Amino acid sequence: MKGKLLLMGMIGGGWWLFRRVTETPQTHLKDKVVIITGAASGIGRAATKTFAAQGAKIVLVDRQPNRLQQAEAELARYPVDTLTIKADVTDLEDLHTIVEETLNRFGRIDVLVNNAGVGDGGQLQSIPVEQMKRTVDVNLFAVMNLTRLVLPTMLEQRSGHIVNISSVFALLRGPGQNVYAATKAGVAGFTDSLRRELHGTGIGVSAIMPGATATPILGGTTREEVREVMDTAGFNIPGVSLDDPAVVGGAIVNAVRYHQRRRVLGGPTMVALCWLGEHFPGVMDRAYKQISSEDMFSTTDRVMDRYKDLYEV
Ligand code: NAD
Repeated sequence: MKGKLLLMGMIGGGWWLFRRVTETPQTHLKDKVVIITGAASGIGRAATKTFAAQGAKIVLVDRQPNRLQQAEAELARYPVDTLTIKADVTDLEDLHTIVEETLNRFGRIDVLVNNAGVGDGGQLQSIPVEQMKRTVDVNLFAVMNLTRLVLPTMLEQRSGHIVNISSVFALLRGPGQNVYAATKAGVAGFTDSLRRELHGTGIGVSAIMPGATATPILGGTTREEVREVMDTAGFNIPGVSLDDPAVVGGAIVNAVRYHQRRRVLGGPTMVALCWLGEHFPGVMDRAYKQISSEDMFSTTDRVMDRYKDLYEV
């Protein structure tokens, strides 16, 4: 058994190394204009830095003006142009403003990162309808709408890249993840369809599926706080990582540079679970039966309570 695992590990490692060596960067990001929504916190904020480190011009979009200013100030150490736009991605007028202000300032749009998102969870009947609608509006409808608005510019340029932030929950689909999982699965489906629709236009479309990442969406403002939430929830599985937002920021940049279709994060066990969830739903049904739904719901309730304390959801 050990020998087989070792052999599989060596084949997997060899394949990874082969891809790394043979893959040449397709897109250089110097002076490219990158719009990132949800740029004031967590993954989006980390992504502003990874793009800035590559020399890109950054348009930071968020509904939280103070945190947006702080995020822009953090980019001062990179010699790049920045623009902040306070916007609610569920507001169509705000979305038009994002595109107009970006074009007025920089004259083009090279990358759109649809990252803004809200957490949701718990037993379906306990989720208020307005909250459900808000989650769909932010996590899915806004992704489609903003993409639709930047496409004419990218099509005219005959180049561009759209990165949509989905989630491992799109594939794991556990109890209590219902509305959130649906929005993130929707993002993944939208991404695949659009990439095929835009084949030959010079525009790439990628989905990033982060695993557990230390941001306020998981109920803490620091890595330690999030770790504590995860530990008390019994979420301490070997091979499942709690990633720093910078890891996801790096994956977003790589998706653009290497034209990757989809990237699942969160450690090797998480990748394997997602594969099982996608291809063998019956196996996942049985696996979830082993975990008490009570535990799952009290975990999501706890995360949501702490999340709501941090933000007005
Ligand atoms: P976060 O709460 O730190 O950041 C989300 C950002 O989106 C915030 O700055 C918030 O103000 C902004 N936002 C929310 N609603 C908005 C709106 N209507 N208009 C404009 N901005 C809005 O959380 P995060 O973890 O960095 O989340 C980023 C993305 O990653 C989300 O789409 C989330 O679903 C996804 N994700 C996160 C994790 C994780 O474990 N943290 C895992 C998988 C996927």
